[in-house]
Amino acid sequence: MSVSVEGVKKTYQSPEGEISAVEDISLEIRDGEFISVVGPSGCGKSTLLSIIAGLDKPSAGRVVINGEEIHGPNGEVGFMPQKDQLFPWRTIWANVTLGLEIQGKKTKERLEHVRELLRRYGLGEFMKKTPGQLSGGMRQRCALIRTLATDPELLLLDEPFSALDYQTRLSVSDDIYTIIKQEKKTAILVTHDISESISMSDRVVVLTGRPSRIRSIHSLDLFSGLTPIERRNHPEFRSYFNAIWGELDESK
Ligand code: ADP
Ligand code: MG
Repeated sequence: MSVSVEGVKKTYQSPEGEISAVEDISLEIRDGEFISVVGPSGCGKSTLLSIIAGLDKPSAGRVVINGEEIHGPNGEVGFMPQKDQLFPWRTIWANVTLGLEIQGKKTKERLEHVRELLRRYGLGEFMKKTPGQLSGGMRQRCALIRTLATDPELLLLDEPFSALDYQTRLSVSDDIYTIIKQEKKTAILVTHDISESISMSDRVVVLTGRPSRIRSIHSLDLFSGLTPIERRNHPEFRSYFNAIWGELDESK
């Protein structure tokens, strides 16, 4: 699924006047591409993501998905929020099939697909457990499988790993990277973690401080085909890290 962000701006009204959160962002994302967006806290990353999701309207500009301008939420777009937001009283199975239930798409085929995803990603034996009985990393994988259950073409991930400790984050980001690539999804990951962005994506978009503009875009062709953990051990990893870190430091 291709996404085109064209001259998107967003201003919010506040008692003190207008707050400009996003200032003129244009970006093309190719089908199957994994993009990450990094920027200082409060610069407008979540705002941009919710505009792409069709949950928020831009003040100017537009978002075009597969050639059509969007005017609201789209069933082809899956949103994975910061917290896993699993319901503690529902079993894992009831949680991961919730989206299908809401969309009225609980067909035999879809349910089998979800069962297969759970098995493939190490959760097959936990379907009858509740979220409280699982580790943070497993819950995060469940949240991703719930997002994948409705078979969206585009995945929007808003700081999905920030609630996890460092070790868990490394292994979960490795798992999630593999899942997204194997399922051939287009993805946009928002994060403030530079290492995470370099280890997972095809390109890193660096935003300035608020109001956010695109500061630079780094292509990571050098790492294509490598897993997040292999990238972190690559001799060039550090130089990308330093370049992006320097740019973010300037925008403080
Ligand atoms: P980030 O995700 O990069 O941390 P956000 O997109 O959440 O940043 O917010 C960008 C700016 O817009 C912040 O200054 C925030 O206070 C402001 N903002 C976000 N949502 C709203 C809203 N609904 N109303 C008013 N201001 C908002
Ligand atoms: Mg945010």
